[in-house]
Parts: sequence; structure tokens; C-alpha cells
Amino acid sequence: METLLVLAATEADGSLARPALEALGAARTLAASLPGSTLVVGLFGAETDGAVGRIGRAGAGRILAARHPDLAVSRYATDSLAAEALARAAGATLVLAPGTSRMNRCLPGVAARLKGRADTHVTGLGVIDGAVTANRWYYRQRMEGVLTRSHRPWFLLVDPGSQTAAEGIEGPASAETVSVEIPESARRTTVVGVREPAVDAQTIRPDAALLLVAGAGWTKKQADGQTHVPEAEQLILGFLRATRASLGSSKSLVDLGGEGQAVLSFLSHLNQIGQTGSTPRHRKGLSTCCHGEEPHTVGWRFVAERRAISLDPNCGWARGKADVLYVADAFRVMALVNNLLGSQGG
Ligand SMILES: Cc1cc2nc3c(=O)[nH]c(=O)nc-3n(C[C@H](O)[C@H](O)[C@H](O)COP(=O)(O)OP(=O)(O)OC[C@H]3O[C@@H](n4cnc5c(N)ncnc54)[C@H](O)[C@@H]3O)c2cc1C
Repeated sequence: METLLVLAATEADGSLARPALEALGAARTLAASLPGSTLVVGLFGAETDGAVGRIGRAGAGRILAARHPDLAVSRYATDSLAAEALARAAGATLVLAPGTSRMNRCLPGVAARLKGRADTHVTGLGVIDGAVTANRWYYRQRMEGVLTRSHRPWFLLVDPGSQTAAEGIEGPASAETVSVEIPESARRTTVVGVREPAVDAQTIRPDAALLLVAGAGWTKKQADGQTHVPEAEQLILGFLRATRASLGSSKSLVDLGGEGQAVLSFLSHLNQIGQTGSTPRHRKGLSTCCHGEEPHTVGWRFVAERRAISLDPNCGWARGKADVLYVADAFRVMALVNNLLGSQGG
């Protein structure tokens, strides 16, 4: 009989972020496939009341909460103490948690303390012949593996964006308090603040329905023999402002900065999609001024609807990588698209 613990840290305002609700959604589905299993929710943070109300009972037999002012910030020493206390209090055999940087940092250590095992980047959960299975991708998302473990406790960190979030579960609920002793030695790391880009400069939006990819063509000499980088910046930013799309890039474009060439100022390697970049999960993607080579398009594996704008009718997108290829000048197409978006109010 499995005891499933969904473990999550609350946000600064006491709420629960979407990755935690996705882990809860996955745990509820898994618990329903495991006869006799028990679902427990474990929350920690400076404040947990808002999160408890957000999930209601969520089909959980117990809700456990560890509250402490020192748990307001992400810090290995304090987070691992809270996670360990909650896992022990639940008697968990399976621990599901969102694969956020905060949980990825502390849970493998907690698994070691509890003599358990941990797997990260889990993208699917299931039951085969009564055994719990976890899916994850290997070799830069080229091969998918399905694994199972008999060892318990088994910690599974679920990739954000890979599961359906638990919805419609709000309601009155109360939590059992789990006390956490935080010694002075656990406070040696001090979090002095959070640095993040201004909202407008934040171009990576995992929750967006659409991914816009910019390729190196935006910085290349155009038909008039000149480059038009400032215009390219305006077109791309105008489209992002109107659509709230997420911005991806080819490797060639983000590498140009290191080679001292003209670049789009808001791009960094974090925007890079592909074999040596990221593999986002947006529903739709639009590639612009990018050649669509295999090392790039491998990062589009999970993008369901793909379109591309390139001057080259023989580019990779034309060879089965895109659903629709517009053989056209992206400067002109995007200017027209932005005008249309403007006239429709975004
Ligand atoms: C080991 C390895 C790993 C790699 N990993 C990655 C990776 O993770 N991600 C990645 O992206 N690449 C990766 N690459 C590089 C990849 O092979 C390509 O070199 C890169 O994707 C090319 O980028 P690009 O298409 O933007 O540039 P280019 O190849 O220079 O293509 C520019 C395109 O823009 C078009 N264009 C120019 N002007 C316009 C216009 N006005 N309108 C429309 N189209 C226009 C051109 O026709 C051309 O097709 C990797 C390579 C290797 C060897």
C-alpha cells in the first residue's frame, strides 16, 4: 500500500504556484490507479493557510503544514529540514514534488537522509502491473525511458508544464501542524533579496500558448545590403507585447554576442531552443529568420503546431519540420502581423 505525499513550498504570499498544482494533479491521478493508497499533502513556508484553502481537501486523507518564518526563503538547510519532517510525519513511500529550482535543490538530499531514492525531470507517471512507473527523457529529449523502483521512499520531481494542474478543488480544509526545529546552523546562508528582470524584459514565458523563435537571419544583411537590427528588435518586441508570446532563439543568434556582432539586446543563452538549449512545451510555435536545422528543431519536439517564415524555400522547415512554411521576408510579414494585432487591440 503506497502513501503518496505531495510536497510543495508556498509562495511569498502564502499561495501555491502552478507547478505545485500540477504535481498535485498528477498525484491524484496516480492515487486513483493505486487501490488502497493514501494521498497526503505536505506544505511548508512562512504562511500556508492560503494554500490549504486553495487545494481544499483535494481528495487528500491528510494535509500537513510546516510553518516557520525561516521557511519564507529558498535555502537548502531549512527547506530540507521541513521536507524531511513532513515526509516522516506522512510516513510517505512515494513523494511527488514540483521540479522547481527550490525543490530540485533540496529533495535529493532529503531522499538520502531518509535512505530513499530520487528521480528528477519526471514527465509522466503511471502504473504497470501494479508497479508505479515514471517517465523521463534522455539524451537531450531524443529517447523516453519508463522506469520503476521497488526501493522506498521514492522521491519524484515532476517537470513543470508536463502535467495537468488540479483544478476546482478549492474549499474549506484544515491542516495538521508539523513542527520543524531550525537550529542556528541552518541559518548560515542569508537570502538578501531576489533579482529578476523587469516584467517587460522577461521574454521567457513557459505558460504562453505561443512560442516565437528568432533566428540569426534577423541580424544578417538584407536585400538592400544593410543590416536592420534596431528594426528587428522593434518588430520582435512589438509582437511579444501584443501577444504575450514566449521568445526563443536559435543558437547562432545568441552566439553572435560572444563574437562581437550586432545582436538583439534582450536575448541570452536562456532563450536558446534545441539540442544544446531548451525543449519548451508551447502549443504553437512560429519561427522567424531561422534555417530550421536539426540541432535546433529537436528542441521543438513538444510544440504541436509549427509554422516558419524563411526566405529559403529549401530550409529545414520545408523538409517536414513545420506544418506551414511561409517563404517570405520576415521583416515585412511581422510588420503586417503587428499592424493587424494593433488594429485588433492586441
Ligand atoms: C553540437 C551542436 C549543437 C547545436 N545545438 C543547437 C541548439 O541547441 N539550438 C540551435 O538553434 N542550434 C544549435 N546548433 C546549431 C545549428 O546547427 C544551426 O547552426 C543553427 O540553428 C542555425 O541558426 P539559424 O537558423 O538562426 O541561422 P542561419 O543558419 O544563419 O539561418 C538564418 C536563416 O534566416 C533566413 N533569413 C534571413 N533573412 C531573412 C528574412 N528577412 N526573412 C526570412 N528569413 C530570413 C535565411 O534564409 C536563413 O535560412 C547546434 C550545432 C551543433 C553542431
